[in-house]
Amino acid sequence: MELIIASGNKGKIKEFKDIFTPFGYTVVSQKEKGVDLDVEETGATFEENAVLKAKTIYEKTHCAVVSDDSGLEVAALNNEPGIYSARYKGLETEQERRQAILAALAGQQDRRARFVTCLCFIDPQGQTHLFRGEWQGTIAFEAEGSNGFGYDPIFIAENSGGKTTASLPISFKETHSHRAKAVAKLMKFLKTQ
Ligand code: IMP
Repeated sequence: MELIIASGNKGKIKEFKDIFTPFGYTVVSQKEKGVDLDVEETGATFEENAVLKAKTIYEKTHCAVVSDDSGLEVAALNNEPGIYSARYKGLETEQERRQAILAALAGQQDRRARFVTCLCFIDPQGQTHLFRGEWQGTIAFEAEGSNGFGYDPIFIAENSGGKTTASLPISFKETHSHRAKAVAKLMKFLKTQ
């Protein structure tokens, strides 16, 4: 059974290969399958965007597909940047986007935030399955650390001892993150199939 990963991100492709290969799937990236599509993320939620990406590819190929959509929600900013995390305020770089969050929270005591991942798996029969993972935390007062990517230097996860995710070993994120939680749900589901 072939499974297509709806992503061009090498880290994600490897992660999904490691997950699905033991379940008998031949895992290929969208690119390897020759699916040259840049699906526009026009959904209003992480779930809608993940489904949009997976369905577009399923309809073209009729192969099983897995996709994901993730982002950061900041309570005091009406859950922004949310689905716009990768393009918050149209800013080009991750550093600019982190600074924009810190600036928007200047003087703000409520610093609650969470990372969210939504995984969409369309099985070989065309059935859609969704798995959501959340990671609660707060936004730091300044950026710190160089591990990880994106908003990791300004995100202090619960149970992290007050350190930003980017200041902690990558292994902490691998076991505690929103993505790890969604993946754990997906793996549990695959084991019941
Ligand atoms: P994607 O949907 O996984 O590509 O994530 C969209 C955006 O959300 C990324 O470009 C990051 O800005 C942010 N993001 C998602 N997951 C993480 C994470 O684990 N750490 C930091 N930023 C993240």
